[in-house]
Amino acid sequence: MKRLGSFPVEPMQEFDVVVVGGGPAGGQCARSLAKAGRSVLLVERHKDFAINSFSSAGTPLETLSQYDLPDSVVGTYWNKFVVVTSNQQGEWKTPSAIGAVLDFGKLREFLASDIKAIGGKVWMNCRYVSHSHSSDQSNGQTVVSLVRNGEAVTVGARVVVDATGPFRAVMYGKNDPKPEFLSGTGIEYLIEVSDEVYQRYSDALTFFLGYKWMPKGYSWIFPMAPNRLKVGAGIINAEHEVVKETEPLKHYIHLILQDYMHLSDYRLIEVHGATLKYSCGLQDVYYRESAIAIGDAVSTVNFLGGEGIRHAMQGAEIASKHIQKYLDRQTDSFQDYQTEMHRVFLKTWNLSEKFGMKKYLQDCDEIVDKVVAYLRPLSLEDVVDILFFYRFEKVSKGLPQYFLRKLDSLWTRLTSRLRKLTH
Ligand SMILES: Cc1cc2nc3c(=O)[nH]c(=O)nc-3n(C[C@H](O)[C@H](O)[C@H](O)COP(=O)(O)OP(=O)(O)OC[C@H]3O[C@@H](n4cnc5c(N)ncnc54)[C@H](O)[C@@H]3O)c2cc1C
Repeated sequence: MKRLGSFPVEPMQEFDVVVVGGGPAGGQCARSLAKAGRSVLLVERHKDFAINSFSSAGTPLETLSQYDLPDSVVGTYWNKFVVVTSNQQGEWKTPSAIGAVLDFGKLREFLASDIKAIGGKVWMNCRYVSHSHSSDQSNGQTVVSLVRNGEAVTVGARVVVDATGPFRAVMYGKNDPKPEFLSGTGIEYLIEVSDEVYQRYSDALTFFLGYKWMPKGYSWIFPMAPNRLKVGAGIINAEHEVVKETEPLKHYIHLILQDYMHLSDYRLIEVHGATLKYSCGLQDVYYRESAIAIGDAVSTVNFLGGEGIRHAMQGAEIASKHIQKYLDRQTDSFQDYQTEMHRVFLKTWNLSEKFGMKKYLQDCDEIVDKVVAYLRPLSLEDVVDILFFYRFEKVSKGLPQYFLRKLDSLWTRLTSRLRKLTH
């Protein structure tokens, strides 16, 4: 330990990688790097993961096996999908579970504890402030300034990861101008209900679309745990071609509670929410020198469904591979990371963005009703393939039955008119 005057000076702690932000992206990236034997520090500005448990966290079942997640992070499983529009309702069901609703707090807590179990470090209540290249070090170290438990701390790292989601805190300094992002805001009530009410929604993801329920977005009911439901509403903060005025988000949550669920008696446990910021055309900054951005900081959230957890984790895995190449001096730039992220996400995200823009900001109510009627003959597996795996080509599967139903009703109308004429 060095001495400054009569005071001993702690040497600066050094890591291969400092990951900023303990969301699904940061947690998975640090976990993957720690597993590969790299020295990792994950910093999260909140004291614990219960504080910003903002996500509804619905996901397909595959997420659990793909990222080796235990049962303990699952709130409930679902095997039914319900879509309610202003004038239509569609229901799709399978006999066994096809997806899960995660406990977002527990998911991030698990990732953090796994990182520690593998030998990485996690500092909670630790806010990233800035980073700079050290002038007195020749080994490519970056000095990262943090505030931990209210005190300024600096650490050294070869790579700094921006996993701060919509804040993009590492990529953009506090006073740097940021490009325009498309934003969406969601608010969710966690409520306690009776057994009887819970059973009605316990196995389904229920979505509400259309002017009546949620213009410019959608609302939802997700089961969270026995007797606990999440009821939320999300809106795109942009102009709609037809709807010019909307109510505050809570209005649409109360609409579901009153007009759909007919709930007079429930206990409000918690209200949470967040704003996502998405770069149209994925034009985010993916890296600057030794800093690299992952997860929602590079718009991995899918614009069509607002689903982002498994995509953030997928991007984190890709980043982890490129970070290791950088640490092993096989590359001195993260350009290949950006190229791979664009190869994996860009085409599908552009398409989702196009459909999302149309659905949330252009379509009139009648079209939203029609889409649900049109998708009704599909199986739940097909609906999940379209909405969660973006296999939009499957949409055409509903077409023959849709036209057959149209022909059938036309035939019924014609024959009844003929009957009237001949009598
Ligand atoms: C209302 C709502 C509902 C949603 N529902 C779903 C859903 O059902 N399914 C789904 O898959 N996705 C859903 N999403 C999206 C999903 O939650 C996000 O896409 C996902 O959390 C992104 O993960 P991330 O790790 O990139 O960022 P985040 O989860 O945003 O994590 C960023 C972390 O960085 C921390 N941080 C920020 N600044 C600093 C700093 N300066 N220093 C230290 N730490 C910092 C934050 O505290 C936070 O913990 C929903 C989002 C919202 C808002």
